[in-house]
This record gives sequence, structure tokens and C-alpha cells, in this order.
Amino acid sequence: MPTPEAGRTPGHRASRLAVVDPATGDAFDEAPDQQPDELDAVVDRARRAWTGWRADPAARATGLRAAADAVEAAGDDLAPLLTREQGKPLAESYAEVARTAARLRYFAGLAPRTRPVDDGRPVRGEIRWRPLGPVGAIVPWNFPLQIAAAKFAPALAAGNTVVLKPSPYTPLATRLLGSVLATALPQDVLTVVTGREPLGARLASHPGIRHVTFTGSVPTGRAVAGAAASSLARVTLELGGNDAAVLLDDVDVDRIADRLFWAAFRNCGQVCMAVKRVYAPARLHAEVVEALAHRAKTVVVGPGLDPDTRLGPVNNAPQLARVERVTRQALAAGARAAAGGHRLDGPGHFFAPTILTDVPADDPVVTGEQFGPVLPVLPYRDLDEAVEAANGTDFGLGGSVWGTDLDRAEAVADRLDCGTAWINHHAELSLAQPFAGVKNSGVGVAGGPWGLYGNLRPFVVHRPQEA
Ligand code: NAD
Repeated sequence: MPTPEAGRTPGHRASRLAVVDPATGDAFDEAPDQQPDELDAVVDRARRAWTGWRADPAARATGLRAAADAVEAAGDDLAPLLTREQGKPLAESYAEVARTAARLRYFAGLAPRTRPVDDGRPVRGEIRWRPLGPVGAIVPWNFPLQIAAAKFAPALAAGNTVVLKPSPYTPLATRLLGSVLATALPQDVLTVVTGREPLGARLASHPGIRHVTFTGSVPTGRAVAGAAASSLARVTLELGGNDAAVLLDDVDVDRIADRLFWAAFRNCGQVCMAVKRVYAPARLHAEVVEALAHRAKTVVVGPGLDPDTRLGPVNNAPQLARVERVTRQALAAGARAAAGGHRLDGPGHFFAPTILTDVPADDPVVTGEQFGPVLPVLPYRDLDEAVEAANGTDFGLGGSVWGTDLDRAEAVADRLDCGTAWINHHAELSLAQPFAGVKNSGVGVAGGPWGLYGNLRPFVVHRPQEA
């Protein structure tokens, strides 16, 4: 089966990257497999374009609004292509396109605030904000457009230019997005580059890049931080998650089961802040398992372009192999599949939605990030122990607490060691909120005004007070 790792002709400059439809397992198109040394010219053009782009905030806001309009107008082209290469149901691709436009519009409306330095001395100090220069954005395959926009919208609004590298598994919709944005933005303000490694590593270490903003796995995040050390560029890392959902003993299982299921299984579980573990009171454990297993067994799994599909395939063959391996290991360690537990027969990267019970607390499916349609449900007797277990991994992206008494649920949520906690929900983010993981889940703050300032540097001017 062709994958982005296969098929490059060594030394051949104009090589191509095969793009696989995860619903069939077959390559259906190609993208340029750009070589690392091509980045010199790309970054140089981004640096030249920066001079004009940084100069006029009003023109930037107008450009970004026009870009948002152009993205919306291109929805019928972008969404099916996104589904084809990523696998998600078409309605979710349309929603992703809408969120991409919304992000552009939100940041078009933000501007940094000049502030006085007020320390009582007879000197007038003023903090102004300056852009950093060309930004290198490296993104994963689970939400190619939306995560890219979370990078480039604040970076562009702040007056930087951007070189964007999508995952080699999902280059096509991003390339199309780049062409759509080019109709609204000045030349070279945003450039999309596609190709296999070491293209990303070179972007992260390129001396002309002044901010490396990365979303992806923890090991790659570490490599990116190491690469950026050579140029001492600013680094923002949005990494993996292993979010826990803690159910309280007053939870109404019937009422929350749908929401909880989708918090874990949306985008086939390939969401950094999906629910990846459920802690249920021992008394309710069987009921919770049954409610989730019922949904896992009856949800329509199929190609994303089929209008009945609610759950698509896993995006790529290595990820499918990882999901299968993690599940097999858990089953071998004594877990039981209340639903699923195996790949689905037939073509494509399909895995049966899986609910695991009787899982050892130290099994990798609990302590690590499965990033697929597999959910362990663990019983607890003591709430303090459940909170300790929820906080007991190397991750700290999000978490949620589910119950009827909202004050009590909020008090428990307050004890979660993560960046965002929800009550009776999960993973619903506001454009205006800061987004930051703790521990291995990230470095730096994205989202809202914090995301804008994350792409700016303070510049301070001191002058004497007028005589
Ligand atoms: P990944 O780390 O394998 O790849 C991410 C990106 O980095 C891709 O574009 C890839 O081509 C590139 N890359 C690979 N090696 C590189 C290197 N040495 N230097 C520079 N770039 C390199 O991640 P993935 O498998 O594409 O995505 C899944 C992971 O992303 C999961 O761990 C998930 O939790 C995480 N994620 C996190 C967030 C968040 O906001 N915290 C959001 C979505 C996904």
C-alpha cells in the first residue's frame, strides 16, 4: 500500500508524494515532495514579503477578512478533498472549513494594545508590539485546515509571514487552502510547502524562521524544539493529550452518554483533546460501559463521503497498526472488549469502535495516547483516587467532570492538572480562550489574544516627560 514513506526516487528533484484515501487504502492523488534545500528560497521570499505585510495593520485586517470570505466560498472544493485524504465524515470537513474561516475573522479583529510603563519615574515609557518575522508552522493530519489556521491566523494578524508545512498524509486540502488564501493575501505572505522528512526538521531549524509553531506528537515536539535551538527561534508546541473524563456518582448516564461517546470518538478518536480514558464510580461502571458499548456497536462506520457515515477510517496505515497493537496488548493483559476490539474486514483503514473494560490501570491504553477509536472505562471507589489517576500521566491537555451537582463537579474540575477542564462537556473550545497544555502536552500559549501575543515581541520606548 503506498504511504508517504514510500515511493521517493533518491536524488530525483521533482519527486511526488502519493496521497492515500484512508477509506480505500489506495493512492488517489499526489503532492510535491519538496526537498529541504528548497526552503532557503521560500523563507527568503517570506522575509521579503514581511516588509510590506507588517507595515499596515488596517490592510492586514482587510486581507484576513477577505481570506475568511474566500475560504467560505471554497467550501465545496475544500471539504470533499479534506474528507478524501483525511477520512472524516463530509459534514465534519465542512465544519472544519467553517472553523478555519472563523479563526481568520476572529484574529482579523484583534490588535495588540500599546501600554504605558508606569513606575512613578519622570520618564514616559511605552510598550509597543512588533512581529517576529517569518513563522514556520508544522501541523498534523487530524485537523489539517483548522490547526493550520490556529497557527497562521494569529501569526499573520500579528504582522508575520508564514511558511506552513502540513503532514505528508494530508497535503492536498492545505495546498488548495494556500491557493484560496493567495487570492486574498499579498504574494508570499503565506506559503504552503509539502514533503516528507526532513522537510519539517529543516523548517524548524532554518535560520530565517523566527517562530516555530508546531502541533503534533510529543517525540516530534522534542525534536522540533531541539532543531529550533540552533537558531534560538521562539517555540510553541501543542502536543499530545490523554484527557480523562471523571464521572461523579450523581451523573445521569442516559443523559450524558451521547455527549461522552462523541467526546471520545469524534474524528475516529484522532483528536488531541478527545476523552481517552473514562473513570466511572464502581456502582455505575457496568451501566456506563453498556451505554458506551451500545453506541459503539450501532454507530455507522464507513467512508466519509457516504452521507450516512458518522465515523470514518483511521487516517493512515501506521496509525491503524498502532491502534491495533495497543488494543491487542490491552486484551492480552486481561482487558475485555465490550464492543469492537479489532480491525474491520475489507479495504481501507477501518477499526471497530472499541470500548474496553477490566483494563489494568497501568496498561499503555490508559497511560499513553491511543489516538484512535478505542476507549478504556475504569471503575473507581474513591473520588480522590480517581482525581489522582486522572492527573497521573505525563500529559495535561484537557479533562472533564460529569455530574448533576454542577458546584461539586466544578470543585472536582478545579483539581485537574491540565490546560482546559469542562463540566458535562469535553473539547469545546472558544476562539477567545487561551489554549495551553501542561507537562508533556505543550509549551507556550495559543488561542485568543494570548495567541496573538505569542507571535509578537515587546518593544519598549523610554523618553523624558515634556519639560
Ligand atoms: P507527528 O508528530 O508525527 O507529526 C506532526 C507534524 O510534524 C507533521 O507535519 C510531520 O510531518 C512533522 N514532522 C515529523 N517529523 C518531524 C521532525 N523531525 N521535525 C519537524 N517536523 C516533523 O504527529 P501526527 O501523527 O501527525 O499527529 C498526531 C499527534 O498530534 C498526536 O500526538 C496528537 O495528540 C497531536 N495533536 C496535538 C494537538 C494539540 O493541539 N495539542 C492537536 C492535534 C494533534
